[in-house]
Parts: sequence; structure tokens; C-alpha cells
Amino acid sequence: MASKKSSKKELERLTEKLFWERKLVWDCITARERNAIFSFGERYKIFLDESKTERECVESIVSRAREKGFRPWKEAREEGTKKIYWVHQGKTVYLTVIGEDDVRNGLAIIASHHDSPRLDLKQNPLYEEVDLVFLKTHYYGGIKKYQWLARPLALHGKVILQDGKEFKLKLGEDDSDPVFTIADLLPHLARKVQGQKKVSEAFEGEKLNILVGSIPLGNSKVKERFKLAIINYLNETYGMTEEDFASAELEVVPAGKARDLGFDRSLIGAYGHDDRSSVYTSLEAILELGRVKTTALACFYDKEEIGSEGSTGAKSRFFELVVSNILESQGADPNISNILEVLANSRGISADVNGALDPDYQEVHEKRNAARIGYGVCVTKFTGSGGKYHSSDAHAEYIAWLRRLFNKHGVVWQTGELGKIDEGGGGTIAKFLASYGMNIVDCGTPLLSMHSPFEIASKADLYMTRKAFEVFWKGEG
Ligand code: MN
Ligand code: MN
Repeated sequence: MASKKSSKKELERLTEKLFWERKLVWDCITARERNAIFSFGERYKIFLDESKTERECVESIVSRAREKGFRPWKEAREEGTKKIYWVHQGKTVYLTVIGEDDVRNGLAIIASHHDSPRLDLKQNPLYEEVDLVFLKTHYYGGIKKYQWLARPLALHGKVILQDGKEFKLKLGEDDSDPVFTIADLLPHLARKVQGQKKVSEAFEGEKLNILVGSIPLGNSKVKERFKLAIINYLNETYGMTEEDFASAELEVVPAGKARDLGFDRSLIGAYGHDDRSSVYTSLEAILELGRVKTTALACFYDKEEIGSEGSTGAKSRFFELVVSNILESQGADPNISNILEVLANSRGISADVNGALDPDYQEVHEKRNAARIGYGVCVTKFTGSGGKYHSSDAHAEYIAWLRRLFNKHGVVWQTGELGKIDEGGGGTIAKFLASYGMNIVDCGTPLLSMHSPFEIASKADLYMTRKAFEVFWKGEG
């Protein structure tokens, strides 16, 4: 024990040795890494701009994977390729690099989600009101509704016509495209209907209607002639009738590109960092993997923002089919017992973002345990709410292994949590994969303005997330 007479220098040495100080990425990188941080940011912005919906993400992932030699399962099985991908229903993708070890010893899994909060068009959305034409929406995921008013919006998605013909729509991104918007009430008249209400009640889901036109077709004797003009335009341009909205998935997303943010360009402001930051960082990491001991599996899920339900979410058992194919690729019997053995022996990262300490709302965080912008990839041991309800709480042994790995390879990391106790909360896909008995922990980039149309991430944190995922797949070696 240090005596009372310990010199100032000795106490400083003790402090440095014993205290846990978060490291700022900018303080502990080489010039080469600094350049790598900024060039990663450029590649990431391109990915974000190409991938504003789950379907677009799947296309971006697959085209990059094919370039790097990944092949779909059936083709890979015939050719004996070790780099394989699966696409399910155009909305979920799995990529694997088959390792040298027996897969029954477990996989190294990084699972992220590529759906982001947005507004979906309803199935019968088109109507006119006071000589203006609108499309009705239903919001998807957790949004603050007022953030979607009075801003340029784009329409992305797919329509399947009565005769089976399909077309993709992407309108509002090109400079020559029109955009759409939801009109907001002028402040002069908003005093009662908005101003005196709680924020959660002042903006109604049924008022999130997209303005799409104002020129009528025909004279004033024609019924609903403003609506008629728009459906006529859609018919002449795309062959659509009103009923075709029923077999369409059209998503309203913020118009515009991902942008460098700040004089120093250290941040990126964009729609969809949650969770495309995890998608792109893990995608680059798996595409660049060489030979690995442990089989690497990247899962890119849909539907996380609405509870991971459905055939393309993390609860879908298509995952087990992928694992059975992986067993087959090593010549092992893909029976249920082997599948469960693979999964129970696997180690996973639920790759997802976390809310960073907000300088203007520090009161909702507990500062010693909140993630901070610029301090690297965030490891979140548990999520949930209240008394850790509905959380997958990672085990100390697993965090110990991960922490040693990150420290050994110069990954700047920090821990985070979902705000102050009893302040709110949330969950990720970790618990669904954990249900197979595997070790898994949440890990990703901290964000400001999370779930908004313009989320903020640090390029330094994004880079460290990518590095963390790379060393996770490469393992101890
Ligand atoms: Mn997320
Ligand atoms: Mn989210």
C-alpha cells in the first residue's frame, strides 16, 4: 500500500496504472490510421447513399460480395467455394467465409440490421383534400413524428402490378427529381393544437400525409380530379392503377445524401446510421477476410426496428437453414443436433448502435457509463429497460475474452448503456441469437440524434467499429 508520504509522481503513476480512463480515438492513432479513418468515411457515405431501404441494402451487399468472390449457396456447393452468401426474400442476407476448424466448434457471428425507422405508404394511400393530393403513411419503428415534417422526403420501393410486372422506384434523390414533404402548421396558428399539447400527442400518425400534387385533370365537373391527375400520371409513367398500391412496398425516407459534418469533417450526418453503420463496417471486414480458423458468418437482418418479427427478421428460422448449409459445406451431417451444437458453441456480436451522451440532455444519461462520441466502438453488456427486463446480459467471461482481444489489437473501445436507470430503454437482436445458447454481446458505434432523419456518427468511432469486427473474425491469431 502506498504510504502517506508517497510522492506526487508516485501517486500519478498509481492513478495511471489503476484507474480506467476512456481513450479518445484522436489521441491514440498514427498518421496512417488517421488517413484510414477519413478514407473509410468516404466509402461508408457511398454505401449509405446507395442503400436507403432494406432492399437496397441487400443489393449493395450482394454486389460487393460478388465482386470479392462470394457465391450463392447452390453455386458455391457445386464449385466448393469457401465464400458463400444467401439472400432470403430480397430482404435478408448472410455471408460466410468457411474456416479451417470443424464448424461444430462454433462460428464467429456478427449480426446487424439494415432496416431503419421511416414512413411506409399505406395500402390504399391516395386521396385529395382541399384540391391537394396526398399519400397516407404508417410510420415504421420508433420516430419522433415532428422530425419528419417540413423537410424534403424521397420515395423508395417496389411495386408489383396486377399482371405481375414489377418496377423499382427511387424518386427524390437526384437533383433533377421532385421531392415530397409533409406540411407543418404555421407557428401563428399552432399555439393550441400543437403548442399546448404534450409532444407525444401534438403530432398524430394519421397526419403524416405526403403532399404529392396540385394540378387537376379535366374541369370542375370531374369527381376527385386532383387525385385522378396523379393516378393518371402514375399510370402513364409506370402502368399503375390505384389497386397496385396494395401490392407495393413504398418507403418514405429523408431525401439527400450523407454529409461530412463539422469544420473538421470529423463526423458524418446521415439517415440510417442505425444500423447501416454496423452493416457496412461488418461487410467490409468480412469481404477483406483471408483464410480464417473459425468460420465467419455475417447476418444482415430486416425488421429489427419493429421487433425482429417476420420471415426476414432475426427471429426467422431461415438462420438455421444457413447453419445447416454451412455444416454441409464441411461435409458434416446437417442434422438438428449438429445445428444446435454449432450454435451453442458460437460466439456472437449483436452489431448495433447505441445512443451517445447528448451534451444538451446529459440528465438522461449516467455519465460514468454512457458512451461518448469519439471514444471508439461501444460494448453494451446489457440493454432492456427497468431491471434489465427483456435484455440479453452478456457473461463476464465473454466480455473478458473480447476485451483482451480488443486491447491486444489496438481497438479503442468503451462501454455504454441505454441511458439512466428507469429513464427508458430498448433492445436489440442479441437475445434472439442468445436463445441458441451462444455467447453474444452488443457492440457498435455511438450516435447522436439516434432514430432521427439525420443521425450523427464520428468517423473515428466508425473506423474502430470496423477494426473491432475485423479482429473478432480473425480471432486470437
Ligand atoms: Mn439498431
Ligand atoms: Mn434502432
